[in-house]
Amino acid sequence: MNETCAIIVAAGRGTRLPGDLPKQYLRLDGQALLRHSLARLTKNPSIDKARAVIHPDDLELYGEAAEGLDLLPPVFGGATRQESVLRGLESLSDLSPSKVLIHDGARPFASEALIARVAGALDAHEGAIAALPVTDTLKREDNHRVAGTVDRQGLWRAQTPQGFRFASILEAHRAADGLNLTDDAAVAEAAGMEVALVEGDEDNFKVTTPQDVLRAQRLLSPNLETRVGTGFDVHRFEAGATLYLCGVRIPHDRGLSGHSDADVGLHALTDAILGALGAGDIGEHFPPSDPRWRGAESAIFMRHAAGLVAERRGRIVNLDLTLICERPKLSPHRLAMRQSIAEILALPLERVSVKATTTERLGFTGRNEGIAAQATATLALPEGG
Ligand code: MG
Repeated sequence: MNETCAIIVAAGRGTRLPGDLPKQYLRLDGQALLRHSLARLTKNPSIDKARAVIHPDDLELYGEAAEGLDLLPPVFGGATRQESVLRGLESLSDLSPSKVLIHDGARPFASEALIARVAGALDAHEGAIAALPVTDTLKREDNHRVAGTVDRQGLWRAQTPQGFRFASILEAHRAADGLNLTDDAAVAEAAGMEVALVEGDEDNFKVTTPQDVLRAQRLLSPNLETRVGTGFDVHRFEAGATLYLCGVRIPHDRGLSGHSDADVGLHALTDAILGALGAGDIGEHFPPSDPRWRGAESAIFMRHAAGLVAERRGRIVNLDLTLICERPKLSPHRLAMRQSIAEILALPLERVSVKATTTERLGFTGRNEGIAAQATATLALPEGG
């Protein structure tokens, strides 16, 4: 069949990292390292079917790591990497795919493009491996002293995935049984197969040392940067209307007029959040001409803005709102207003501030014609987002 299968090799007992867990099951960003590798291959459009080769002791850990991913049932590996790959290949012989990509389970960052490059190169070559040229000068050591410099010209560091025509690599692996070679390209070479070099990726490193674990964690949690936005809004008083501020009903002889519930505090906060996102203003997201928003609770608007923050994998650091009016007196309602905002956005109370001031009877607020509100929102957003 003209299919491409993948084998993910995860049967090793890594001994270079502290702790009891085999390294492929260390948790990175809340998931087993191996899950990241499995997901990259199973979700790649170049791969039709994928199977992991695991250690018999890891069946339970594997079940958790592979949950929900589209994988063939795992097979058990052998005593060496080479033996494990051979078992994986033998297990695919009934499917007899045309191509196979073999990948280390401890390389969680093979990009979609990298996998596609290796798979694509197999149209023209019997084998193709991801690799990078050596850039450091190489020294030969003798008793912890430099015994010579090795010419690095033409030297490459082999990564995985390594791809091959399936029938050829299966035959090569059967013939190489017992040689204990450290990668599949070496097996292919031993069989005289032609193997092309495909551009690898520095991020496609093998997690081996504790430093590698830290590097992997850094790659998975992007740097956050701070964004600040401001919002300002005014609504005029209207006799007979109900006054809502920050989602709290405030007893007063007048309310505010507006298309929605006219909650001037939540409008200013919504604009501040949208401003920090560079995502326009409240009128753009909720046009006053749209009858859906007539009398609407303004919590909907603020929640929508907060949803955009979450979509960008960011979070609200804090919100600060100042309400400006002569009357009603707002200090008795400040705590309730803070609590209301914190509840609408599921934020801790200390991240929400509500203040109130007058304008010393000056201007439209001084003349009791309406209420003004100004807000700032501080967000933490992933860099480059
Ligand atoms: Mg408004």
